[in-house]
Amino acid sequence: MPSEADIRRAIARHGKSLYDRRYAHGSSGNISVRLPDEILPGGMLITPTNSCMGDLEPERISKVAEDGTLLAGDPPSKEAFLHLAMYRARPAARAVVHLHCTHAVCVSCLADVDAENVLPPITAYYVMRIGKLPLVPYFRPGDRGLADAVGALAADHHAVLLANHGPVVAGKSLEDAVYNAEELEETARLYLMMEGRRTRWLTSGQIDDLGRHFPS
Ligand code: ZN
Repeated sequence: MPSEADIRRAIARHGKSLYDRRYAHGSSGNISVRLPDEILPGGMLITPTNSCMGDLEPERISKVAEDGTLLAGDPPSKEAFLHLAMYRARPAARAVVHLHCTHAVCVSCLADVDAENVLPPITAYYVMRIGKLPLVPYFRPGDRGLADAVGALAADHHAVLLANHGPVVAGKSLEDAVYNAEELEETARLYLMMEGRRTRWLTSGQIDDLGRHFPS
């Protein structure tokens, strides 16, 4: 089992990697990892408020109890409640990544998308990593109604797209959550590149076949 220090270092490492590859900019985006029960049942480590993902100091990463109380480190991201809502709805989720990544945010602003599933099944990898991606209505920053809206969808979806804002993506591990978020952003980019072209998405039969061969 990784120690708390190991998890802190892993968050900083992934934060820098995402920042260096422009999945995050400025102080946008946040990463959390649910702590093992042996360390703090229901608690999590999360990137601090106003921190830059490219320059995280492991020991300053926020340690937060299940109810949002700060236990160690700097004050947590103002979006910590989004992560807690995802964990409450998904007991198997071990990590959550939230980004303001350019292409996914672009898609989150498009009119006339299917709010129950914003992106089409472009590749098998997207279908396996994300599947269906619902759109959460717009809320102003800090509005706790956003946590309720995410929580309501999270039981059935490990990834959601916040309208005019960005994705919130859970995973079975920190690596898994990061890879899921990257797959979502790259698929949004592909989708935008295809605008105006005749396209061929995976069929429902091909999607069912993936589900049989790669059950989640
Ligand atoms: Zn945000």
